[in-house]
Amino acid sequence: MDILKTFTHLQSMARPSGFESPCAQAIAELAGPYCDEVKIDTLGNVICRKKGPGKRLMMAAHMDVIGLIITHIDKKGFLRFGALGGFVPYRLIGARMKLENGMGGSVWCDEKAMEEKKLEDITLGDLYLDIGAESEESAGKMVQVGDVAVYEGEPQQVGRMLLAPYCDDLIACAALLSAMSQVEKSENDLYFVFTVQEEVGLRGAATAAYAIDPDFGVCMDVTRTGDNPSEKAKMVVKLGVGPTIKIKDASLLCNPQVIAHLREAAKEGDVPYQDEVLTAGGTDSAAIQKTRGGVLSGCISIPCRYIHSQNEMVSLKDVEQSARLMALCAQRTL
Ligand SMILES: [Zn+2]
Repeated sequence: MDILKTFTHLQSMARPSGFESPCAQAIAELAGPYCDEVKIDTLGNVICRKKGPGKRLMMAAHMDVIGLIITHIDKKGFLRFGALGGFVPYRLIGARMKLENGMGGSVWCDEKAMEEKKLEDITLGDLYLDIGAESEESAGKMVQVGDVAVYEGEPQQVGRMLLAPYCDDLIACAALLSAMSQVEKSENDLYFVFTVQEEVGLRGAATAAYAIDPDFGVCMDVTRTGDNPSEKAKMVVKLGVGPTIKIKDASLLCNPQVIAHLREAAKEGDVPYQDEVLTAGGTDSAAIQKTRGGVLSGCISIPCRYIHSQNEMVSLKDVEQSARLMALCAQRTL
C-alpha cells in the first residue's frame, strides 16, 4: 500500500472531531481486503479485525482533525467561530480555511485586538472568518451556525519530507492501514481501530477500547521534535531518524511491558527507533489504558514539526518505518 497516496486521499476529506464520516467510509473501503471484519461503531470509529487465537491487541490512530465551528455570523457578514481541538489563536491569523461545502475563507483578527494585545493574548473571539460575504444576510445563505471548517492545503513533498495540514493524525491512519496490509500471520487477535474525537478528549478510543476489551493497546500519533532553531527545544526527538517508542507524555505513562514489546519488535525487524519523553500532549493510548480494569498501553509516534499548524512536517522515511514497526508489533506474539 502506497502510504503517501493513501494519505493524500484521506487528507482531501479531512474533517474535524464529530464530522469524521467521509474519512471513516474511505478507510473502511481501503481496509476491507486486509482484514476479516470491518465495522463502524455507534460513535463512528472504524474497527477492523484480523482474527487470531491469542491475546487481543488494539492498535489505533485517530481520524479526526482540528477545525473551526461557526458560532454566529456578525452584522457585517463575517463568521465567528469556536474551536474543535487545540489551536493557538494567533497562529490562525492569515490561514486559509475550507468549509464543508467547499467554500474558502481567510482568518483574520480584529484590528483593535491586533494593536492592543500581545500575540499570545489574542483569543478566538478576536478572530473572524471572511468568506467574502457582503452582509449578514448573504453570509447566512452560504453557511449556517454549526458548519465546520478545516485548513486548506495540498500535501507537498519537499525532498524526503512531507508538508501538509493534518499529518496529525491522517498520516498515522495511512501508516496503520499500511501496517495492516503488511501483517501476514499473527497469533494475536488484531484490532486496527481508526478513532473519532481524539482532538476533543480521546473520546472514540475510550468507547472502542471498552467494546474490544483488549489485553494490549498501541496507538500511533505524531509527536513534537527538538530539532528546530529554538534554544528552548528540550526534546531529543528528531525528524528522519525513525519512529519513537513513547515512554511518557502528559496524559500517559506507558507500561514497561508494552515498551519492551515494541523495542523487541524493532530490534527483531531492524527498525531504528527513538525514545520519547514528551512533557506536554496526550493521545488515545491514555484512554485505552484507563478502560475497564486497566489495559497495558503504549504508543508509536511519528516525529512532526509544527503540529496543529497549516504546515505540519514529517519525514516519509519515519512514516514508512512507523508502519513497519506497527506491523512487527502486531505479528510478535503477546
Ligand atoms: Zn494526534
